[in-house]
Amino acid sequence: MSEHDNNARVLNGTAVAADIRETLRARIEAFGVAFGRTPRLGILLAGDDPGSALYVRNKMRTSEELGMTTTLERLPETASLDEAMSIVWRFNGDPLVDGILVQSPLPSGMGPDAEQKIFDAIDVQKDVDGFHPTNVGRLVQARAPLAACTPSGVIELLDRSEINLKGKQAVVIGRSDIVGKPMALLLLHRHATVTVCHSRTTHLAKVAAQADVLVAAIGRPAFVTAEFIKRGATVIDVGTNALTERSVVVDIFGANSKKVAAFDKRGQVWCGDVHPEVASLAGALTPVPGGVGPLTIAMLMSNTVTAAEIRCAQK
Ligand code: NAP
Repeated sequence: MSEHDNNARVLNGTAVAADIRETLRARIEAFGVAFGRTPRLGILLAGDDPGSALYVRNKMRTSEELGMTTTLERLPETASLDEAMSIVWRFNGDPLVDGILVQSPLPSGMGPDAEQKIFDAIDVQKDVDGFHPTNVGRLVQARAPLAACTPSGVIELLDRSEINLKGKQAVVIGRSDIVGKPMALLLLHRHATVTVCHSRTTHLAKVAAQADVLVAAIGRPAFVTAEFIKRGATVIDVGTNALTERSVVVDIFGANSKKVAAFDKRGQVWCGDVHPEVASLAGALTPVPGGVGPLTIAMLMSNTVTAAEIRCAQK
């Protein structure tokens, strides 16, 4: 996000996430009245990745602030896939666990397909990340009660910011299973005309510059520059890149920027996939941090409540 000619409307994900959490409170209360307990999220955290531990702490704190319950199971870096699998099966069989979250990445020692195997093993009804193939299939058919949290959060942000998608050109840069692909499907279901780009796309900037709504989910700091942007476009910056070199922060944000001052205090700053210069061209833009990130957690909470409501209503 720009600190320079910032003409773009800032799409404040932190505020929208707070609104989403507020609407959840009433549902959590009603669930408590109906079933005599609160929705519970079962979390598996395997390994010593400090980023993962931080994400899990944030998710647990948000969950508990909302009056929900969490059960955290931890495994060491050396744990096997079988050990992880047995925790998932335990969560699957526990009637008091409503949602299951397996924090990525899993330790590399569990094997290259470990995440897919684990996601495949999660009870479809408790799949609050929306990664199970059945839920992905339902998403394709526009009938998924549980869809991936980050793209769902982007749709909430666009809706609540009254940004119309019907008939608009939407371009998604990134085709991962957790962001790019579900994002494209959700935009399609909102009647946007969707183009999905990736590392082999030719004339990428030219394609992106057709977009009324551009979603960047690449994982490359400040990759999306002014030439990618149609004037007035809505730009959603999903990228969350840690910058740890001062010279890079200076290059991207300028020597006198707040980001450089923040870097000098903390030795690290967050940077999106969108270059700050885009703020002078875009009509609306999400900041990093404070844009898509808070929405991802809010949608995880929302999916947990939805999973609890659906499963318990069937009993
Ligand atoms: P990913 O699995 O690494 O996927 C990145 C995508 O970007 C791939 O499809 C890749 O294309 C594409 N790409 C890479 N380099 C490119 C280039 N030079 N030109 C065009 N496309 C390129 O990443 P992800 O999990 O989707 O995450 C993307 C970013 O979002 C990361 O920064 C991640 O940290 C962030 N994220 C944020 C949140 C949040 O809550 N804020 C949540 C999830 C992810 P190929 O498929 O051709 O390789």
